[in-house]
Amino acid sequence: MTQGIIENLIIELMKLPGIGRKTAQRLAFFILSMPGEDAKGISRAINEVKEKARFCSECFNITDMDVCSICSDNSRDRRKLCVVEEPSNIVVIERTGSFKGLYHVLLGALSPIDGMTPEKLKIKELEGRLRKDEIKEVILATNPNTRGEMTAQYVRERLKPFHVKVTRIAYGLPMGGDIEFADEVTLGKALDGRREMN
Ligand SMILES: [Zn+2]
Repeated sequence: MTQGIIENLIIELMKLPGIGRKTAQRLAFFILSMPGEDAKGISRAINEVKEKARFCSECFNITDMDVCSICSDNSRDRRKLCVVEEPSNIVVIERTGSFKGLYHVLLGALSPIDGMTPEKLKIKELEGRLRKDEIKEVILATNPNTRGEMTAQYVRERLKPFHVKVTRIAYGLPMGGDIEFADEVTLGKALDGRREMN
């Protein structure tokens, strides 16, 4: 019977990315050896994130409130808006310390072949923010790959009527890459070296 519950945990852990059978086994037995409170802390955190996580009503970052902690931070520069594909990109950019403005998450990138059309992205909401907020610069920090590039070009076109400065992060970032995997220094430089898009 013991075999059953450990095996069950191993199978659950293998659902995580990058976790193969061997690692899952090691983790499962490690969890088994942990103090009860620590192990419960993990399961509680997982439950909480699934129960409470929602999208910020302003920027579509992940939050447990109506408006996320970045949007509600009055010390941030409200004239700059950094557009990213996924909420996880915000975490990476925040770590660079290079950006003190606000964000807007598109919740994806254009890929017509996979049904990711412009209507599926939070572009209308971005336009809405440009209409009501005092935004002077929009920084397009979509991934430096084909989809991210296509998305940046498309968003740039959509923002033309707003007469706002639109910039694209520079390429110290390897082409074909993903913001997720850029180191902080490279990403910081890519932000600092952003160029205006025509
Ligand atoms: Zn927000």
